[in-house]
Formats: sequence, structure tokens, C-alpha cells
Amino acid sequence: MMEERIFELVAGHPALDLVNTLDWRFRPGGQEELLESYAGLLAFAVQEHLLTPKQARELSGNTSSRAGELALAECRELREALADAIYAQLEERRPAVAAIKTLERLFRAASDAQRLLWDGHRFHWEWPELETAPRIPTLLLANAASELLLSESTLQIRACNNPECRWLFLDTSKNHSRRWCDMKVCGNRMKARRFKALHRT
Ligand SMILES: [Zn+2]
Repeated sequence: MMEERIFELVAGHPALDLVNTLDWRFRPGGQEELLESYAGLLAFAVQEHLLTPKQARELSGNTSSRAGELALAECRELREALADAIYAQLEERRPAVAAIKTLERLFRAASDAQRLLWDGHRFHWEWPELETAPRIPTLLLANAASELLLSESTLQIRACNNPECRWLFLDTSKNHSRRWCDMKVCGNRMKARRFKALHRT
């Protein structure tokens, strides 16, 4: 059975949405894990249009519960390395060596999992193990992440202004003015907070 969680995909890029699946990452009261199971990871990949629902069903059928647990752990490892690297980039610090090593390994694994295919007209990268290898969702995300971090678009990455949230997104607004992951979630709450502060003084 596919998990029914609907992910809030506001980042404008799957690699950033992935980092956001550890919700309230900077909240002193505790983080919230949204990527709870392998089925959840498959649902996330489908909602990001990295896999079709049919491909996800095939993968689910080909993945034992143990293999699913391992694949989920590897995906969280990718996520935390990405988080370390991207928040460091935003704060103009050097990412941890361990994070760089993890990204290098998974970016390379994603590249190695692809084959160059000639379809009679042109070349394509294809994923021969798309419906069989449990770690495919992680490799698709690693591939998307490497494209983002090694492109000019990496300079458009911003974090939500709510210090307990700091969800990542690509600021593609014309005057680079986007401040919130989601006005409904953080934009409003900050307004409410300011309103309260105003009345306390
Ligand atoms: Zn936010």
C-alpha cells in the first residue's frame, strides 16, 4: 500500500523539498520527520514527478521491508548532507567534510546508475534499474541535487525567514523578494507574532 501523505512541495526543486522533509529543523522544541517510511519516500518521488505511480508500484513490489529500510536510511543520509551543504552555503561557511564526501559518493552513484541510450534519433540518459533497485528514488534525488548545486541556480536558494522553519526554496521572484516558504504557514504566523509583541509593549 502506498502511503497517503501529501507533501507540501513549495521549494521549486526536488532536492530542496527533500531537505524540507525534516520539518521544523531549527525549532528548539524538536524537529518533525515527514519522511517516515519507504512507502513515504516513493510517494514523495511520485509527487515530485521523478517516478510515475506505476514505476513506484513496481519498485514497492520489488523491495523487501529490510531493503526499504536501508534505502530510506540512505535517502535521509543524502538529505542531511544536502542540508549541511546548503545551509553552510547560505551562511557563507564551508560545509562539513563528511557532508561533501557523502554528496560526492551519492552524486557519483547516481551518475553510475545511468546508461547512455541511442533511441534512433538522439541520445538519452536512462535508468535501467528504475523499477527494480530500491535505492532508485535516492539516486534520482541525488541526480537532481547535483544538477542544482553545480548550476547557477544554486545562487537562488533561500531559506524561509521564520528562524524555526528555514525551509529552503528557489527564489525565482523578479526582485528576489520571496521571504517565506509559504505565506499561509510562516508568513501569517510571523505576522501574528509581531501583532502580539506590539500589544505586549
Ligand atoms: Zn517557513
